[in-house]
Amino acid sequence: MGKIYLIDVTNRDGVQTAKLGLSKLGKTMINMYLNEMGVYQSEFGFPTTRHESHYLQENLKLAEMGVLQPIHLEGWIRATAGDVERAYSLVPNIKHLNLSISTSDQMITGKFRGSKNKEDILAMTADAIDAAKSNGAETVGVNAEDASRTDTDFLLRFASIAKEHGADRLRYCDTLGYDNPFTIYEICKLLAEKVGIPIELHCHGDLGMAVANSIAGAKGVIDGGQDAYINTTVNGIGERAGNADLVAVVLALKKSRGLAKKYKFGMPIRLSMAWKICKYASYAFGVPIAINQPGVGANAFAHASGIHADGVLKDPKNYELYDFKELGRGEPEMVETGREICSGQYSGISGFRHLMGKMEISFKNRDEAERVLELVRYANVLAQKPLVADELRFIAKYPDIAKELMTIAPLT
Ligand SMILES: [Zn+2]
Repeated sequence: MGKIYLIDVTNRDGVQTAKLGLSKLGKTMINMYLNEMGVYQSEFGFPTTRHESHYLQENLKLAEMGVLQPIHLEGWIRATAGDVERAYSLVPNIKHLNLSISTSDQMITGKFRGSKNKEDILAMTADAIDAAKSNGAETVGVNAEDASRTDTDFLLRFASIAKEHGADRLRYCDTLGYDNPFTIYEICKLLAEKVGIPIELHCHGDLGMAVANSIAGAKGVIDGGQDAYINTTVNGIGERAGNADLVAVVLALKKSRGLAKKYKFGMPIRLSMAWKICKYASYAFGVPIAINQPGVGANAFAHASGIHADGVLKDPKNYELYDFKELGRGEPEMVETGREICSGQYSGISGFRHLMGKMEISFKNRDEAERVLELVRYANVLAQKPLVADELRFIAKYPDIAKELMTIAPLT
């Protein structure tokens, strides 16, 4: 029976969201936390975008060093042979790619405006997969953008051609959040049965159903005999109303009625990382966690009314579906309420040593401390907010990697 894997797209769909973004160090931290959490793959960026090159290459280096292991680091590009070649010229070591192209009539007529027809879409996709494979890609996912508004026969043909050319997965993109759990279950089951290819569920929240659609789609894929790969983002950050929330998807699979007994993760997921990764993403994106967010919201385990408070005090199971400790909550957190020394782009050695000393990080000599401080200043220039303890630890532990991944040289 098929299994469920998670592919987190925070570092692609999340960062391309209007008004939001992450520094390259911030994206690296997300990859580190996803890896710790047991997420199968991170869609870690855009290999054809020049300012991503250093960040992508250094994260691949962390993978080679065994630091970002076993997570797969995969880049998102358009499904054209030209983009594949450009990706390999800018990021030669990239091993995993997802190739994206629009498949719906709406997009083909509304975006390409007569310059491409359906046959062109199929040919371009085939060429792009061939190019990726000949450049040495270990896995290739093929994204049917706007799949939910795509004619079923064409979607089946598209998926079959992707499979024939050696694609490892089809990404079913409900780009506009148009599906509901019933429609996505049916179409994904059909695709899995007829084409016989593992399927990714990429769902958006325009109708408030991103998580439910992801779960129903995954059930369709597995019932159709294939593995399912659910696309998530941390805190559901993504285009417009967002993507399927990582923690909510994990909770739904582990806790909802009948699911956990029937459907299994391909890799063990450490839900206990939830609090850490969600808090970090909230800080790094500058987007507060909603008070009622599943699992990690301030009210997720709060009770005030008489009947609920009495019930939960007698037995938490009366009014809580799962325990807060499972999400890594409940540990005391140090919040400075008096004097505070924080990192900044104009930090000096004395404040920096104080900050690092509090985390019990010491340096061999003054030169080493000065070097790490200089990197911390640059990280602050890019983040425009004080670094968190894990970011400071990362820079102190991997100064060479930190230097490279922050390096951006416009128009050279
Ligand atoms: Zn998307």
